Amino acid sequence: MVQAMREHFDNSYARLPDRFYAKLNPTPVATPQMLRVNETLARELGFDPVDLSAEVLTGNSLLPGTDPLAQAYAGHQFGGWVPRLGDGRAILLGEVTGGFGRRDIQLKGSGITPFSRNGDGRAWLGPVMREYIVSEAMHALGIPTTRALGAALTGEGVQRERRYPGAVLTRVAASHIRVGTFQYFAARGDGAGLRLLLDHCIARHYPAADGPLSFLAEVVAAQARLVAKWMSVGFIHGVMNTDNMAVSGETIDYGPCAFMDAYHPRMVFSSIDQQGRYAFQEQPNMAVWNLAQLATSLLPLMDGDPEHAADEATRVLEGFATQFSPKWLQLFRAKLGLTTQEEGDEALITGLLARMASSQADFTATFTALTEGDASEHITDDGAWDSWAPDWKTRLSREPGDPKDTMRAANPVLIARNHRVEEAIQAGIEGDYAAFHRLVDALKDPFNPAPKYLDLATPPKAEERVLRTFCGT
Ligand code: AMP
Ligand code: MG
Repeated sequence: MVQAMREHFDNSYARLPDRFYAKLNPTPVATPQMLRVNETLARELGFDPVDLSAEVLTGNSLLPGTDPLAQAYAGHQFGGWVPRLGDGRAILLGEVTGGFGRRDIQLKGSGITPFSRNGDGRAWLGPVMREYIVSEAMHALGIPTTRALGAALTGEGVQRERRYPGAVLTRVAASHIRVGTFQYFAARGDGAGLRLLLDHCIARHYPAADGPLSFLAEVVAAQARLVAKWMSVGFIHGVMNTDNMAVSGETIDYGPCAFMDAYHPRMVFSSIDQQGRYAFQEQPNMAVWNLAQLATSLLPLMDGDPEHAADEATRVLEGFATQFSPKWLQLFRAKLGLTTQEEGDEALITGLLARMASSQADFTATFTALTEGDASEHITDDGAWDSWAPDWKTRLSREPGDPKDTMRAANPVLIARNHRVEEAIQAGIEGDYAAFHRLVDALKDPFNPAPKYLDLATPPKAEERVLRTFCGT
């Protein structure tokens, strides 16, 4: 058994040179207590869920075959350059391999590392629950994301605005390599490290790529697809710093993220995003900004004349827009029940979104109402529904098949509504985890939820609305 587990791990990142990380074990916690194990995911990854005990999920006990380390990276935070960030409260235990490929197993909230700066290396229950709920909800929506393998309480308090229960999240990712990881080596002028990192990422994520430029093109394409998907479900990441953008194209680092209730293109949730840098509508632009930092980091690895290399990289970056727009259009067409393409479709979609904004219509509920053919109870601005619906219905009459089927598959009934996430966290602080478990269970089937979960589809009442989420590390 132990031997099998040992062979289950194959820690390719730990075999990179030691300037890529700091090797250290998680700091043990007082009294590990299980919160939840994702048994389905555990089995998919070749674990026996009983092996994922509270001791293992807090890092008090290490599975055979792990080689724990904190990864080094840099990043632009809200546009400001920070040359050294790194895992200040996370530890990569190792990588498991199998028919699914290769996945990182990481603990988040596992204690101080050489990258902790002034932080305590810990996480409290709130952000752990939020990441568990939202990342699993994203997965069920078909959106590339890191996953939650489990969460456990530490039995220790964590001091933030007040004292909260401490917790550790066990996170799974294709890798935790970020745009900021490339920036780290580029900024140090470490060309050899940069080359090793590139080769590692190509082998791991984009084996068809044959160099820095085609690698960049793959990351650009993955991010264009990803951000289009975020937009299609009203998701706001909240902190799209370059250290929070994975080159694998997975959504990563759920901080003050949220799904919008009332639609507005300039919606912001994060308490620390005062300028609206990462507002809903800005996300594609910010993805390009981040990818430009990746391109800059890769320039030293590009052959030939530097000016020519920069032109080539710019051309690849321009590919974001040419891939994002058709993807966005395809996703929103489906939300309106359209499987064919016509010239006027984009105007039809943007016409609806403008009316949703002026009506402060609930994003998710509007689209599920459209599935039933009538969103007039959401598009309430004067004359807004009546000035849009006839064009939509005329357009639908030219569709083959039943548009309802298309819309049911494109318009989730359940999202991780912010007030429900907050409700689960508040109960959790009091030691009641029922709302958390119910939310996680319900969100496994967002397009066709069991009737017993339909209360979770209801938008918040005015007094229930959560308009700010705190970074809450
Ligand atoms: P994030 O907000 O998750 O993107 O984190 C930004 C940086 O701050 C990363 O380098 C984190 O590891 C670090 N960090 C965040 N919270 C803590 C904490 N409680 N203790 C130590 N480092 C932290
Ligand atoms: Mg981060």
